[in-house]
Amino acid sequence: MSDRRPPIAAGAGPAEVPARVVDALHAAARAAESVRPARRDADSVAVTVGDEALNGGASPIATSSARAAAHDAMSPLVTADDAEASSSARSVAPRESVVAALVAAGADVRRDEPLARHTSFRIGGPADLFVAAATVSELQAALRAARAHGYPVFFLGGGSNLLVSDRGVRGLVVKLGKPFDFVEWQLDADGGALRVGAAVPFKRLVAQTVAAGLAGLEFGEGIPGTIGGGLLMNAGAFGGEIGGVVTVLEAVDESGERIDLPRERLGFAYRRLTLPTRALITAVRLRLERGDAVTLAASVADAKARRDRHQPKGHPNAGSIFKNPPGTFAGRLLEEVGLKGARLGDAMFSDRHANFIVNLGRARAADVKGLIDLATRTVQRRRGVELEPEVRLVGDW
Ligand SMILES: Cc1cc2nc3c(=O)[nH]c(=O)nc-3n(C[C@H](O)[C@H](O)[C@H](O)COP(=O)(O)OP(=O)(O)OC[C@H]3O[C@@H](n4cnc5c(N)ncnc54)[C@H](O)[C@@H]3O)c2cc1C
Repeated sequence: MSDRRPPIAAGAGPAEVPARVVDALHAAARAAESVRPARRDADSVAVTVGDEALNGGASPIATSSARAAAHDAMSPLVTADDAEASSSARSVAPRESVVAALVAAGADVRRDEPLARHTSFRIGGPADLFVAAATVSELQAALRAARAHGYPVFFLGGGSNLLVSDRGVRGLVVKLGKPFDFVEWQLDADGGALRVGAAVPFKRLVAQTVAAGLAGLEFGEGIPGTIGGGLLMNAGAFGGEIGGVVTVLEAVDESGERIDLPRERLGFAYRRLTLPTRALITAVRLRLERGDAVTLAASVADAKARRDRHQPKGHPNAGSIFKNPPGTFAGRLLEEVGLKGARLGDAMFSDRHANFIVNLGRARAADVKGLIDLATRTVQRRRGVELEPEVRLVGDW
């Protein structure tokens, strides 16, 4: 653990990091130095220690909102109420029994799969069990097996909005395999009805619909991840959101039943979708209107240019760390309190856009979480605004 303790530094951004912010980071790093390595990963530090250091004498708001985000991140299959059950399931769940049930269902199960391979941050410890489901029936069987054995399940999309703990995820992580990457088109004079598999990359769908002269998804140019994750996050940009074009979601609920959820039963909100029941989205039906090819191409080019101008490039990240609070921008607040360019270990608030944390090489989840906690507390204290993470904290913290 001690081979690569922070550089903690203010970055090259215009705002200087206040001395007490740097002090707080140093205190966190010193505390982290003095703790035992985390249970599963000898090179990681239990984040609760970072919490204590960073939260010393501070408002509890930072911790509570980060915890809420962590619980939220376990949705749709594990909620805050289940958190206790999840951690006790960890010690008693018979992993090999679950493996046997999954194998019997035809699933290709991996043990201790490193989740850093599956996240855009390139951060994250192992999943106890990992399945890339090839069919709906395999998915149903996997969910039933996990449920029968009291095993928590986390559903992984493209991993582009996740901070996975260094200790990884206890339970089963399910990802959709290649067969869920499909698009069915029904074009008519006014536009088109599409049925889209949840594993389809968001960016690819944007390019295909624009090429087909269909309007409604241009805002999504440059949003990584899958359609399934995009739906759960109600991904959006530049005034558009994917929720605006959804007619029906196809899903599998936690008891393994296939369900169709019409739009009236879906609660799309800012970077959030509330489902009537916990469920894994397998496909979505969309309605898109016919658009003018030149206008569509111009919108996409504009979105791309704006991203190129403002967003960091070249280092792994998970997009915006915080949601924009009503009436203002998280990035502006972070910049005003001097956190642009602030660094903990190999995690740094981008000096290009303060609401991005970039992984400079070997950042750990604990480093990123330390910066999130610090920013939450600092902005609350100095601006009276409670930042809410947009990135979802997942796993065993
Ligand atoms: C460079 C960069 C730029 C970004 N820009 C934007 C942007 O402009 N706007 C924006 O909104 N986001 C942006 N993001 C964040 C991210 O790309 C989106 O939130 C994306 O939609 C997440 O999709 P994913 O498949 O990666 O989901 P994941 O990160 O894997 O998961 C996100 C959540 O969805 C759940 N989930 C995933 N798939 C399913 C499913 N099939 N069924 C049920 N639950 C599921 C997960 O459990 C998790 O809670 C950006 C990220 C990066 C790295």
